[in-house]
Amino acid sequence: MCDIHHFISGQSFTGNSGRYSDVFDPNTGEVQARVQLASVDEVDRAIQAAQNAFESWSSTNPQRRARVMFEFKRLVEANIDELAALLSKEHGKVIADSKGDIQRGLEVIEFACGIPHAQKGEYTFGAGPGIDVYSMRQPLGVVTGITPFNFPAMIPMWMFGVAIACGNTFILKPSERDPSVPVRLAELMIEAGAPEGVLNVIHGDKVAVDAILEHPLVHAVSFVGSSDIAHYVYQKGAQNHKRVQAMGGAKNHGIVLPDADMDQVIKDLTGAAFGSAGERCMALPVVVPVGERTADELRERLVSEIPNLRVGVSTDSDAHYGPVVTQAHKERVVGWINKGVEEGAELVVDGREFSLQGHEKGFFIGPSLFDHVKPEMSAYQEEIFGPVLQIVRAASFEEALALPSNHQYGNGVAIFTQNGRAARDFAARVNVGMVGINVPIPVPVAYHTFGGWKRSAFGDINQHGMEGVRFWTKTKTVTARFPDSELEHTDSSFVIPTMK
Ligand code: NAD
Repeated sequence: MCDIHHFISGQSFTGNSGRYSDVFDPNTGEVQARVQLASVDEVDRAIQAAQNAFESWSSTNPQRRARVMFEFKRLVEANIDELAALLSKEHGKVIADSKGDIQRGLEVIEFACGIPHAQKGEYTFGAGPGIDVYSMRQPLGVVTGITPFNFPAMIPMWMFGVAIACGNTFILKPSERDPSVPVRLAELMIEAGAPEGVLNVIHGDKVAVDAILEHPLVHAVSFVGSSDIAHYVYQKGAQNHKRVQAMGGAKNHGIVLPDADMDQVIKDLTGAAFGSAGERCMALPVVVPVGERTADELRERLVSEIPNLRVGVSTDSDAHYGPVVTQAHKERVVGWINKGVEEGAELVVDGREFSLQGHEKGFFIGPSLFDHVKPEMSAYQEEIFGPVLQIVRAASFEEALALPSNHQYGNGVAIFTQNGRAARDFAARVNVGMVGINVPIPVPVAYHTFGGWKRSAFGDINQHGMEGVRFWTKTKTVTARFPDSELEHTDSSFVIPTMK
């Protein structure tokens, strides 16, 4: 069994905290590696390495920084099979989906390749007599990303892609459950030409996260994970004067109006609810059919479609989804199914007893479907993060609109309809950050930004796109005066300067 080490100053670094976390193969249930958990001193070492690299990297011109991003993209593409296999073996998502995880991250790297344009400042010539005003977006210094298990390639790339392109140096603290791909990405970044110390990976748990949040040299923290921890990171980071964005959990609803194209809805829903075993913050675990007729048809069609889903090992190219990430997570998901039953929802399809022949110890869960789920049930209010779809019936458009709007989470929502007016009205009024219209997983493209509302995000600057550039830079505005001649000297003024 191998140990997974930190990556500091362009090389593997073996920590000596003596603390480890097991990394499982979710297909077999076996421990396949141990990842080191950093001590406070080891976190400090990584931060010092990033600090040492900052001066030179931040003064490297943006075109050269962009060239590193171009080369990084090329290297990740050249190694995508190896990366996807590694990702799939630790996370459990199928290979095609693992490639999608990497590809969506690369799209942000493509955006970062345009940093010379995106980081340009503003200029006003002649704001006053002989006065020019210009602003520049300067990098912050050492910045950090703390990431969840469910997108071990995409979410780190969302963060370090834009941050490093902007001239910052970076500490990545990935999930301890699937830590290998983040390390490979850092190795490839160095191979792409980023100087040592520009991207460092430190593995760990709360000890490492707290060390980051308390370190005086850390200027910004980007976090993605569950909401309670996101809230904690947001508060503690802000208390320590760091810029923080902290994305949290989700419970996304798909609203189905009576005029929706039901064939397409069934395809979209099964993919969005059960793909990646439901372990996506933009999954659709709740479907809200409007009207009893729509609900009955939807239920009937889901009941006949769900048995066609193939649950298999992550390397099975015919499998629709693989195991969940750990036994503990499997137990949590099954616990929520039990809770739903206890609370009185009707369990129409039960995936709890599913077992994959030959892989009985793997962390597999069959697809489950609930009907007659009510808003007051805790199994509806909380995130399950597994292959579980809940039908919540609504009598009207307004009732359907109110469900995601009043839910504690507000990451994504989708509406399925052919009625443009209803869709437009829904998109304008729903109290959720990302909306899909006949699009089940409305993750915005890389040059727009990603971010939910309510308990799905703390802080108000989104991930990637121009908001990413704003998050990872600070604006400096210069007002400069060069009068045309000495005759234009001004007298002292004790009044705040105004434009005449
Ligand atoms: P998690 O909250 O358990 O872990 C996220 C990160 O926090 C990891 O790096 C982990 O090591 C660290 N961490 C864990 N416990 C900690 C503690 N007590 N103190 C400080 N740090 C701690 O999340 P997860 O299970 O890895 O990921 C799944 C969650 O992430 C789900 O809730 C999902 O909705 C959410 N998520 C949200 C988005 C989004 O953009 N809103 C995207 C992906 C995932």
